[in-house]
Amino acid sequence: MEFIPHIIEGREVGSADGKRFDTVNPWTRTAWAEVALGSRVDVERAVAAARRAFDDGPWPRMGFNERGAILHRLADVIEKHSTELSEADTKDMGKPITDMRTKDVPRAALNFRFFADHARLTAAEAFPSDSGHHIYTRYEPAGVFAAITPWNFPLMLETWKVAPPLAWGNTVVLKPAEDSPASATLLAKLALEAGMPAGVLNVVHGLGPDSVGQALTESPHIDRITFTGESNTGRAIARAAAAHLTPVSLELGGKGANIVFAEADLDSAVGWSIKAIFSNAGQVCLAGSRLFVEASIYDEFLARFVAGAKTLTIGDPMLSETQLGPLASEQHFRKVSSYFETINEDGGKILTGGIDSGWTIKPTVVVDIPTSSRVCRDEIFGPIVTITPFSSEAEAVTFANDTPYGLNAMLFSENLSRAHRVSAALKAGTVWVNCFFIRDLRAPFGGVGDSGIGREGGTFSREFCTEPKAVVIEI
Ligand code: NAD
Repeated sequence: MEFIPHIIEGREVGSADGKRFDTVNPWTRTAWAEVALGSRVDVERAVAAARRAFDDGPWPRMGFNERGAILHRLADVIEKHSTELSEADTKDMGKPITDMRTKDVPRAALNFRFFADHARLTAAEAFPSDSGHHIYTRYEPAGVFAAITPWNFPLMLETWKVAPPLAWGNTVVLKPAEDSPASATLLAKLALEAGMPAGVLNVVHGLGPDSVGQALTESPHIDRITFTGESNTGRAIARAAAAHLTPVSLELGGKGANIVFAEADLDSAVGWSIKAIFSNAGQVCLAGSRLFVEASIYDEFLARFVAGAKTLTIGDPMLSETQLGPLASEQHFRKVSSYFETINEDGGKILTGGIDSGWTIKPTVVVDIPTSSRVCRDEIFGPIVTITPFSSEAEAVTFANDTPYGLNAMLFSENLSRAHRVSAALKAGTVWVNCFFIRDLRAPFGGVGDSGIGREGGTFSREFCTEPKAVVIEI
């Protein structure tokens, strides 16, 4: 069986104690590779390597052009190795290979190109002063980053977490999710191939609590923690970070509301709403899992939505025609399928869906269920949507905001004034109007409430990835 090692100081290494774990392909439900199972000792080795690369190495001292050229080369080699990277994530967590090739890999490359260019173009500001002083900022690298990522967009989120710190001259220890380790090791190898010095990007595999994740967040030698994952894990990380006052950026869970008003372009609203909940088998923090439809178009919307949901091609994620693959792991499949019981208990009706075979769940549509039910409140992270009618704009906004999460929301309307008004009223880090998942890396990304702390993207990433310094010179 293939072996997936850590990458520490530019070398492929096993764990100090030799331990390994299996990574399982959720479609075949068999192990396809063995992975180094890290411990605190491996974390200390990786953090020491990143520390040396930061304190004494060339990376933080390079000009933006030189560093940017390496990051652009990394984007090029990512594209060159698209097949290998796509297969790694698909085997690890069941994402349809076509999504990997057409979305995740191009976005992974863009993450490096964008942040390399953005850093170069926003590296300083000058403040001319009336008092005869020249004042400017230096955005200096902050140090060693711990980047901890989930399994739902493995490569895409690994690159989203490491590209901004690297572009600003920091060094990184990346801990990918235990269910999707393969692409992280490949990424670190490609970074070396692109010319990144050893020790700048290290990868340590392992688990979260009492393992690699916890050891990283407790390390006194880490200067920033950037994390994407569940809200409860975010809480544990914030507690650990507090010991050393380590700044954190937390991108956490969501329970996205999707509001369809009567005047919406129905074809477009149905199409986007299906993508918003069933892409990646619903394993998307931004998923539109709570759909609210104006009562006057409810029946027609429902009929079209259910018909559309039934047309999705379910199957082997390695086949290019597959649109919906298995859930990422047996544990996650068990969690998601447990909600079928609660739907019955809470009096809901399933119009279409249910368990398919193996760890695959069909696109599932639930109606006639109170908004207080578990399926409406919990982040299920699977292909299950609830659809609820509303009778006024105010009621739609109240429904949408009735959640501890606030990552994103969507609305569909051809009424411009309403679109602006409702966008302002929604409690969310991103609001999409008549679309879904459109990202501009200059815009802030993050959530309110249980969905996180901080924003990333453009200058928001700059603030987190640097220690800004003011220099004041008397002329
Ligand atoms: P998770 O929180 O279980 O795990 C994420 C990572 O944290 C893994 O690498 C895990 O090993 C590690 N971890 C777990 N406990 C830890 C601890 N105590 N200390 C340090 N590290 C620890 O999340 P998951 O199940 O992998 O991913 C799904 C979650 O991620 C969902 O809640 C989803 O909404 C969220 N997510 C959020 C965004 C966003 O941008 N806001 C994007 C994608 C996913």
